[in-house]
Amino acid sequence: MTVIPKEWLPPCSMKRIICHWTAGGYKATSLDRAHYHLLIEGDGTLVRGTHSIADNVSTADGVYAAHTARCNTGSIGVAVCCMSGAQASPFQPGPYPMTPKQWETMAKVVAQLCQFYRIPVTPQTVLGHGEVETYLGIPQHGKWDPMVLPWAPEMSRTQVGHYLRALVQRAMLGEEPLEQPSSATLSIGGKTFPVVMLNESAYVAIRPLAEGLGWYMRSATGGLVQVDVGGKLLTLSSTLIEGKGHVACRELAEALGTSIEWEPQTRTVKIG
Ligand SMILES: [Zn+2]
Repeated sequence: MTVIPKEWLPPCSMKRIICHWTAGGYKATSLDRAHYHLLIEGDGTLVRGTHSIADNVSTADGVYAAHTARCNTGSIGVAVCCMSGAQASPFQPGPYPMTPKQWETMAKVVAQLCQFYRIPVTPQTVLGHGEVETYLGIPQHGKWDPMVLPWAPEMSRTQVGHYLRALVQRAMLGEEPLEQPSSATLSIGGKTFPVVMLNESAYVAIRPLAEGLGWYMRSATGGLVQVDVGGKLLTLSSTLIEGKGHVACRELAEALGTSIEWEPQTRTVKIG
C-alpha cells in the first residue's frame, strides 16, 4: 500500500492525523495547498500541500499548515477537495459532493501516514475535523468536515468517524475489499447475490436481496432493518459496508428458521 511518494514524507515526530474537506471545488487551489499537507482531488489525484509535514512539528515560528484551530502542532492535515456550498442542516452536499473514491483514497493516505509516522488508529489520533471538539476538547466553531457522506447521509457523525478508522485499519492490513469483487455468493430462493466476507462472517446487501426476492423493506434505521417476508416480519441487525446496509447470512438464516451451508468449492453460502 503506497499512495504517497516517499519524498513527501520527511522523517519527524507527528502525533495525529486530522481529516478535512476543503469546502471548495474538485481541484486543489493554491490557498487549499497552503492549509493542508496532502489533498485528494475529485478524481482521486493526490496533491502535495505547500508546507512540508515537518513544518507542523513546531508551530512556534508561524510557518506551518494551518488546518485545525489550536491543534496544528504535531498534526498532519489531509483534505478531500470538495463540498463547496454544502449545508449541514438540512444536509445539502452542494455542487461538489465528496465522492466514495475520494473517501477511500483518503483512508489509504491516512493508513500510509499511520504506518510511516507510527501513529495508532484511535479517535484521538486519527479523526475528522468535526470530531476534534468531541475527542480532543478543542472548540472548532461548528466545523463538521468530513463527517457526512453524501452517498450515505443517514449515517451519524459517530458512525462516519468509526467507518473512517475501520477503513484505515483495513488498508493498513493490506486488505482492499473496496476494490475487489465480492469473494463469495449467496444462494437463496433460486437466486444468487454477492457476499462480502468480513470478520469471519458473510454479509449480503439487504436492499438488492429484498428486491431480488420480492421481500418488502419496512424500515432501515439505527443499525436495524425490518423486512416483510411473505407476511412474516424479520428484524435483523444491519452493518454498513461501503456505505450500504448489509446483514449477516447466518442471522438471516436463523430469522428465516432455515438451514445455512457453505460450499467451499464454489464459495457459495446456501440458505434454505
Ligand atoms: Zn476542516
